[in-house]
Amino acid sequence: MIPVITIDGPSGTGKGTIAARLAERLGWHTLDSGALYRVLGLAAERRGLALDDPDALATLAASLPLAFADDRLLLDGDDVTETIRTEQAGMSASRVAVHPPVRAALMDWQRQRAQPPGLVADGRDMGTVVFPRAPLKIFLDASPEVRANRRYKQLIEKGLDANLSRLIEDIRERDTADRARLAAPLCAAEDAVMVDSTALSINEVLDRVLEEVRR
Ligand code: C5P
Repeated sequence: MIPVITIDGPSGTGKGTIAARLAERLGWHTLDSGALYRVLGLAAERRGLALDDPDALATLAASLPLAFADDRLLLDGDDVTETIRTEQAGMSASRVAVHPPVRAALMDWQRQRAQPPGLVADGRDMGTVVFPRAPLKIFLDASPEVRANRRYKQLIEKGLDANLSRLIEDIRERDTADRARLAAPLCAAEDAVMVDSTALSINEVLDRVLEEVRR
């Protein structure tokens, strides 16, 4: 069986960075499942689809014209790597992600990312739904204020617009929606290792995760 490490948790906990660095250390592939929902939200908006129409969204999800070129993400051939990182795209992703048919349509695509020598998958339901038999599952959490602050710095570094109090509000709103939804609510798998990154740097979190990998 191809080994998979799952890293789940709310947004802004550093999941993506940890997953990328861990994969680099191990020489494994990565799956950023949040990017998939973000691209789907964007694709739906560009096609004028309603974000509350599960059937239309699931049809789109099943044939999403998505491609990777080096570390760039292309939708319909258009580079959307930065576009999908806005808070607006995050909110749209949350809205399309509530529909069970949409989640089902994206399942195979995600599972097919598990290729030798291994996969590090990050998201909300990697350990609970998509890779329930993964031998190592991490659930990464941090306070909303710290997460909003990290997001703020990322956006400013990329030269994008950011407003800290708005980000805290958005993060709280998205957490509530992600935890309350019926389809794959955000929660830790029973066998997940809990890591609170509120007071930890990225390197400290990575060391903590590597400790678990070596176990
Ligand atoms: O992780 P990221 O912030 O990019 O995810 C964007 C949104 O996509 C999340 O707020 C969540 O609603 C949704 N998502 C999901 N399941 C995943 C990954 C992301 O529902 N595995």
